[in-house]
Amino acid sequence: MTLIHTNIDELPQIVQELRKSFRSNLTEPLSYRKKQLRNFYRMIDENEQAIYDALYKDLHKQKHEAFVGEIGWVKQETLDTISNLKSWAEPDYVKVNVGHMLNKCHVRKEPVGIVLIIGTWNYPINLLFMPFIGAIAAGCTVILKPSELSAHTATLISELFPKYLDPNAYRIVSGGVVETTALLKHRFDHIFYTGSGKVGKIIMSAAAEHLTPVTLELGGKSPAIISNDVDIPISAKRILWAVQDAFIKEAPKVIEQFYGPDPQSGTSDYSRIINKNHFDRLQNLLNQTKGKIVYGGNFDRDDLYISPTIVADVPKDDKLMEDEIFGPILPIVVVENLDEAIEYVNSRDIPLALYPFSKSDKTVKHILDNTRSGGVVINDCLMHFTVKDLPFGGQGPSGIGSYHGKRSFNTFSHERAVMTTPFALEKLVKSRYPPYTEFNVKILSLLFFSKPSKTRNVAFKGVVGAAILLLITYVIKKMKY
Ligand code: NAD
Repeated sequence: MTLIHTNIDELPQIVQELRKSFRSNLTEPLSYRKKQLRNFYRMIDENEQAIYDALYKDLHKQKHEAFVGEIGWVKQETLDTISNLKSWAEPDYVKVNVGHMLNKCHVRKEPVGIVLIIGTWNYPINLLFMPFIGAIAAGCTVILKPSELSAHTATLISELFPKYLDPNAYRIVSGGVVETTALLKHRFDHIFYTGSGKVGKIIMSAAAEHLTPVTLELGGKSPAIISNDVDIPISAKRILWAVQDAFIKEAPKVIEQFYGPDPQSGTSDYSRIINKNHFDRLQNLLNQTKGKIVYGGNFDRDDLYISPTIVADVPKDDKLMEDEIFGPILPIVVVENLDEAIEYVNSRDIPLALYPFSKSDKTVKHILDNTRSGGVVINDCLMHFTVKDLPFGGQGPSGIGSYHGKRSFNTFSHERAVMTTPFALEKLVKSRYPPYTEFNVKILSLLFFSKPSKTRNVAFKGVVGAAILLLITYVIKKMKY
């Protein structure tokens, strides 16, 4: 299908309109944000079947998979956000030290402004809308740029948006590199990008021109370290399930249990490759590997079908091990021991997620203590993604920042420090002004600074606190109002 691209001549006006809306405080009231979140929920709910159809056309993604991996979470996140919004948006009053006792200090949660959210194709609903929910909640105006590769989903979203959501605040820009490049010339207040590290660098460079903060949700390899003490059938099943709609993994027995002997025509549960470019890339990888294809390896370019493929004895420097595969190919690298596995993981980019499989707490702790990654799931894959209070994101080459639940709200909010000081206190604070004296330094030290505590004794702290209070009372009495 051909995606209708947004005319790039319209982009300056779209950006300008959304900025104007933001400055007019249109998106500021919580009642407005909640209403838009409810409308967004309705948009998904009332068009669920159309979304399933689009995902199927784009990726051959089954309803079950589309519900569990995309629509279910997006709806749940919307509901959770609506019910928590009031408390998330409330100011935080902070504790102050003695010297600030009469000041009021709080943190206002303010929307950062106009934000750009750029999505990718493998979860075209989830990865575009999960951050969007946070941006609505925070009170931002938003431009969303869905991936042009999942064109059916992008087209559907573009049609539905103006029917449910306020076009003065939320707009879709359709298109690919040309449109994104044109968009990136504008100044945004935050850019949230999901996709490859290669494009992530382009996004970050463009953002740097305006000193715009970014969240980058990137990729790379997410290794599973399988210790020899595990339950192999369960591990195989969990690894395989986790990658079934993008890459695919492990064990012929499990593959056949999932898809039968012929995943191409014997089942409708098996996804296809997004387009011919990615198909050719994957086929080239398998042509170049020095590993041994021990299962699968069947291709049908017209159907964009690649069978679940397991490649064993893959050398550490193999072509298959260079970049994220993003297809149904499982390379297996055999190592002598745990430390060699850890060393191999550490010699590469920090992964988005790490999956240690082991029954031994000691082994798992050893892996956690000696590796780094965005997240970790022990004895399973991907599932941390489904817990809203766990941060989802990478580290360094696998990403910058994290989101889900309250973190999405925080991502698009600015924590503005607010301190209110009564004029009446001028005499109390005069010790900070010249002429500088030793006495004033002592007063300031008592009011604002503490000494390293040698004891954790609460009673002792109480006595010191009382002494400081007495001293302050004395100082205040000495002052002539
Ligand atoms: P993609 O081709 O869909 O690109 C992502 C977005 O970047 C698209 O909207 C696209 O239009 C835009 N884009 C592409 N090239 C561009 C350019 N030169 N300039 C400006 N914009 C450009 O997807 P992709 O890059 O192939 O994404 C796949 C990657 O996404 C994989 O590496 C995968 O690991 C990563 N990913 C990460 C997560 C996560 O949550 N961290 C989830 C899914 C996928």
